[in-house]
Amino acid sequence: MPVEKTYLGDSVYAAFDGWGVTLTTENGLPGDPSNTIVLEPEVVTAFLTFVEQLKRSMDMRRGRCTLCKAVVYYYPDTEACPECLCKTQFEIMG
Ligand SMILES: [Zn+2]
Repeated sequence: MPVEKTYLGDSVYAAFDGWGVTLTTENGLPGDPSNTIVLEPEVVTAFLTFVEQLKRSMDMRRGRCTLCKAVVYYYPDTEACPECLCKTQFEIMG
């Protein structure tokens, strides 16, 4: 498999060699790449899980349960209040 670098931004490139992902930083200087990180498949999977969890945590909302009136953190796809466990609606509190 040909290794093709993809520019991610901020001088960072990613390349997949058929096994793992190599991240490099390149600034067009003689010492390029100035940094190299080789992510083995297990580490790529762990990183993707980290990003998914991060995206999910950034999507958390704070609201008041319309049934028990508890102020809780919940995800937009949450169907039950974490306090009273009833299917409910939340008053969004920001
Ligand atoms: Zn509730």
